[in-house]
Amino acid sequence: MDSYQPEAVKPAHIESLAAFVTASPSSFHAARHTADLLVAAGFAEVDETLPFDARPGGYVLVRDGSVLAWRIPDNLDVTAFRIVGAHTDSPGFVLKPTPTSSFLGWQQAGMEVYGGPLPNSWLDREFGLAGRLVDAEGAVTLITTGPLLRIPQVAPHLDRSVHEKLVLDRQQHLHPVFAVGRPEADLVAEIAALAGLDPATVIAHDLHAFVTEPPARIGLDGELFASPRLDNLASVHAGLTALAATDADAITVLACFDHEEVGSASATGASGPLLETVLGRLSDALGWGVQESAAARARSVLVSADAGHAVHPNYPQLHDPDHRPLLNAGPLIKFNANQRYATDAVGEAVWRRACAAAGVPTQDFVSNNSVPCGSTIGPLSATRLGIRTVDVGIPLLSMHSARELCGVRDPGWLAEGMRAFYAGA
Ligand SMILES: [Zn+2]
Repeated sequence: MDSYQPEAVKPAHIESLAAFVTASPSSFHAARHTADLLVAAGFAEVDETLPFDARPGGYVLVRDGSVLAWRIPDNLDVTAFRIVGAHTDSPGFVLKPTPTSSFLGWQQAGMEVYGGPLPNSWLDREFGLAGRLVDAEGAVTLITTGPLLRIPQVAPHLDRSVHEKLVLDRQQHLHPVFAVGRPEADLVAEIAALAGLDPATVIAHDLHAFVTEPPARIGLDGELFASPRLDNLASVHAGLTALAATDADAITVLACFDHEEVGSASATGASGPLLETVLGRLSDALGWGVQESAAARARSVLVSADAGHAVHPNYPQLHDPDHRPLLNAGPLIKFNANQRYATDAVGEAVWRRACAAAGVPTQDFVSNNSVPCGSTIGPLSATRLGIRTVDVGIPLLSMHSARELCGVRDPGWLAEGMRAFYAGA
């Protein structure tokens, strides 16, 4: 394991990641922003309701909070897909359908818990709402507010038990305030007005909470990167950086799904048909028959990229003693014999080869047998597609916090490993 060297950091990648995270406060924004960046890089946006084009070039398709992009090379020498998969969503809070309430002179916003956030990390932190407003015709407007909400902690003078144990009831204690003395306020109408819409025309919303404090480099030499949504926008950003930059001899694909944090079972989640449908339509557009399509999938590999757990100096017992990944020591390869991660030895070799070609160090992650293991879209996509899959990702601390922590080197290394993978290294 090599040590941190400030001069080896690629500041441009971290700055670009910070800008990407900031521009992607919800899965809808992440999908849209990914497509916008790829279109700016020459990709053509695809309308799902029209036939697919099979000419060489880059293509990108957005469906709600998911985004798929692919490149058909000028010289398609290898009939195969090289796929990077990730997810666009992050755990947090979603605005309830009729969210505004007034109590004791305060105006509060009803929020549903989305996935498994660390609720304490949202306390006393300013957050806004981002997502989409929809009118009666179904027209969608993406919206991002400024700092609007806060879940204030109770002072210890009033409740000394918080010094010993903080108990947060998900209904009672996670109810943010957004105004005082405004009993007439209607939060959705205010947000519609902010978006420049006539509030009377907005009949539906999908609005997620996001913390408004910008990402920052911290630590003695700026070697740490504190940011919301590193799980999993660091992987989406690495994938799009790699896809846009790589000429390959096979079809390269980036598939970023919504709803991973709630199990992926949705029309736009990794357990849904989105990727399978796109690969099928691409095969058809390229004139591949059933035989050739199946052969292509048998030659294909999916790199499932998602954040993993670095060793925590205050909780060392939670890691396997022989597998204690650190920040700034390279992306993880994630193993789980019970298929919580899809990595097998052959897939592992594909990723190791790519990282070796790119000069990227790797670290192994496997759970302590006595500690639960997370999962990713890897096993779900592998099950759905039958494509060999390897689970990788940058190491983090504070996963699922409103503000997570990674090393400044690992995201760029992940992108470089993906580039080499796409290039067929
Ligand atoms: Zn994740």
